Amino acid sequence: MSYLERMEEEAARQTRSSKHAKDPKKKLRTLIITALILTSTSLVFCAYATGSVLHKSKSSGAVAVTAPKYLDGHTTDTGQAQPVEETAEEAGETQGNDPGLDPGTGKQADPEKAADPSINEGEEAKTNEPAVPSQPGKPAPSQQNQAVQTQMTTAKKVVYLTFDDGPSKYTNQIVDILNEKGIHATFFMIGNQLSGNEKTVKNAAQAGNYIGMHSMTHDKDTLYKSGSSAKFLKEYKREQEMIEKITGTAPWLIRAPYGSHPYIGKSFRDDIAAARFKMWDWTVDSKDWSYSGKPNRIIQEVKRQVHRDTEVILMHEKAQTVQALPEIISVLQKKGYAFAVYKPDQHIVVNFSKDKRL
Ligand SMILES: [Zn+2]
Repeated sequence: MSYLERMEEEAARQTRSSKHAKDPKKKLRTLIITALILTSTSLVFCAYATGSVLHKSKSSGAVAVTAPKYLDGHTTDTGQAQPVEETAEEAGETQGNDPGLDPGTGKQADPEKAADPSINEGEEAKTNEPAVPSQPGKPAPSQQNQAVQTQMTTAKKVVYLTFDDGPSKYTNQIVDILNEKGIHATFFMIGNQLSGNEKTVKNAAQAGNYIGMHSMTHDKDTLYKSGSSAKFLKEYKREQEMIEKITGTAPWLIRAPYGSHPYIGKSFRDDIAAARFKMWDWTVDSKDWSYSGKPNRIIQEVKRQVHRDTEVILMHEKAQTVQALPEIISVLQKKGYAFAVYKPDQHIVVNFSKDKRL
């Protein structure tokens, strides 16, 4: 008998003996016991499921009005992670910044250039509402209601002050005011102004502020006219090296001169994302550059526009801004805002195209 035949014989013998072993009475008893166990298990499960659904519908009532969205936890100067809620009506609001105007110089943008399809090629319809994304991978709201309710009651509003077009003769004054108030801000500096101002830049960084990038030239034609991202990216890479030499930290956050709209289209953004830069626009335009000698107008402008749980305020290194700054900070504190400074590991998406890669 071959090995295979022996195995077959053995298998057949086992099948016969197992059939023989089954006593019909025993089999019936086993069936009844199994049925009883199954019935009681499903009864218990049904009762639990009903209770759980009732509990869920009750607790979700409290968050039905707003759709809470969690940012990647801000670290504010109070040192707490902040949840952010965005009400439905907020979506599609935030207009009011004038992307056709140059925030730095107040020059009128060329409307033909803005309409140039080569610049906006392949771009989807968009608004000027910056995206405030929900945190990827967070649990479904139904699993989270308890946490949401708890955090809603302690929710703090967060504001990021941002200053463009430095370093300048005003940088140290701005940093002094921030230090007096015990807060920090995010600066977007122009590469061509760094030379000779290294001490000022280093001082601002060491005080706890973030030094972001605002291109080398701030020149609209150089940066955008070709419709290609090549010169734009070259400027930011150069500036990144310069800032790293001064502060010891390579920045990755950029702000596009004149804002990302309308100059920066889809393919342009693809290139920025591929270069691993992050790009911030703003949620509040203080229009400070246009209010020379009128600091109160800047304060009113900020008061009028600020209402979201997360705000990024655009300001510039200007005399009138320095004058208005202490009062702007007080106003925001009274409105319940905590001040945050940009942190690469707590990045939030703030660009007009709501591009989550940037
Ligand atoms: Zn600027």
